[in-house]
Amino acid sequence: MSEYELVIIGGGIGGSALANVMARAGRSVLLLEKSEVYEDHVRGEWIAPWGVAEVKRLGLYDLLCEAGGHHVRQHITFDETLDPDMAKGSALPLNMFVEGVPGPLCIGHPHHCQTLFDAASAAGAEALRGVDVVEIETGAAPAVTFRHKGEERRVTARLIVGADGRQSAVRAAAGIKLEQEKPHHMFGGMLVENASGWDAEVQAIGTEGDFAFLAFPQGDGRIRIYGSYSLEERRRFAGPDGPQLFLDAFRMQCCPENEHIANGTPAGPLRSYFNINSWTEEPFADGAVLVGDAGGWTDPIIGLGLSITYRDVRIVSDLLKESDEWTPALFKPYAEERAERMRRLRFIAQITASLDAEFGEDARARRKSYFERAAADPALGSHAAGVMAGPEALPAEFFTEEHRSRVLEGHK
Ligand SMILES: Cc1cc2nc3c(=O)[nH]c(=O)nc-3n(C[C@H](O)[C@H](O)[C@H](O)COP(=O)(O)OP(=O)(O)OC[C@H]3O[C@@H](n4cnc5c(N)ncnc54)[C@H](O)[C@@H]3O)c2cc1C
Repeated sequence: MSEYELVIIGGGIGGSALANVMARAGRSVLLLEKSEVYEDHVRGEWIAPWGVAEVKRLGLYDLLCEAGGHHVRQHITFDETLDPDMAKGSALPLNMFVEGVPGPLCIGHPHHCQTLFDAASAAGAEALRGVDVVEIETGAAPAVTFRHKGEERRVTARLIVGADGRQSAVRAAAGIKLEQEKPHHMFGGMLVENASGWDAEVQAIGTEGDFAFLAFPQGDGRIRIYGSYSLEERRRFAGPDGPQLFLDAFRMQCCPENEHIANGTPAGPLRSYFNINSWTEEPFADGAVLVGDAGGWTDPIIGLGLSITYRDVRIVSDLLKESDEWTPALFKPYAEERAERMRRLRFIAQITASLDAEFGEDARARRKSYFERAAADPALGSHAAGVMAGPEALPAEFFTEEHRSRVLEGHK
């Protein structure tokens, strides 16, 4: 074929999920994925409860559960200013944020991508791997030229979808500007196995000294671990000793259970990133629309890229199914909802990063004061509820400088 209704560039989470939904709706879909094999680049493996609700609305929940999706049911915040037993005593049940969702869903990223890609193909999308995209033409007559298995093909589409991640070629071809904040801290991640002493239903975060950890169990003794550290120490975990140094950073007095992680075995690469927030004002142009990271992403410290991507796919697929006028005007409501969603999530990410991923005496004193004040006034910790229940679950007055000041006591 050389004519499709949709050509989707990027067969990660967003592209493969959209291909599933649109192929099931009877649309002709070409899905183009660059890689031959999905590798562990250290990406998201934790879907927030509001993201799980989006997965359900897309009809993909059973697929992910059958592929090994693992629900976590409790959250514990540890900190050097908190007694570990008191922290455990304040464990938060995670079924309280979205009705019908037992908690966040964890699934390995490469396996998650492969599961969706295979299902898209089974649903009727033409799904190709090992594709080299040569040219993307947006505008009134969208077209894509690519090489696959030694052959060059040019195909036309009613619409091109950019689901090609942070460095999106579709975004560049469509002339859509990516806005970015300055990085706040470093963020590394790694998969660990043989950590079966860790309770597989409990996720945890915590800050001690110059390191802040996050741990999301995957079941069967596997845990996806992440750690924040300062920009000045950007090479702290570089080199062959990096993975062991990273594991050692998890040995914390404030969370004795982290021994299970520190004594675990690396089961994938350690990758570190500058953590930033980014966004696009209008994630569409004539002949093209962006979903997922291609349209901008939030600091992974709040772990919401997958949830954002699934919501993008749900909104865009609903619009495409509702109307046959696939003009830029169709995507205005998507752009408006997404701009406000990303603005709110940026705000939540900034507060989270200031609290959890700043180090030293002042930062420690601020966290201590925050925990004490939040115990007396739980509304102070609403940003955490926004992560779990979705940014729209919080009132508008939460996203103000007054509120930020109240949480951080004047610190920006
Ligand atoms: C360290 C880290 C931790 C994270 N943790 C979490 C978390 O816990 N929870 C969470 O929700 N999110 C998390 N995220 C974010 C999450 O992983 C992303 O938001 C999500 O993967 C975005 O999905 P996507 O489909 O838009 O992009 P991607 O997953 O990046 O997929 C893009 C796909 O496009 C393909 N591609 C790229 N260019 C081309 C091209 N030219 N032609 C064809 N194919 C192309 C790529 O090969 C890839 O398969 C994390 C991110 C990082 C960096």
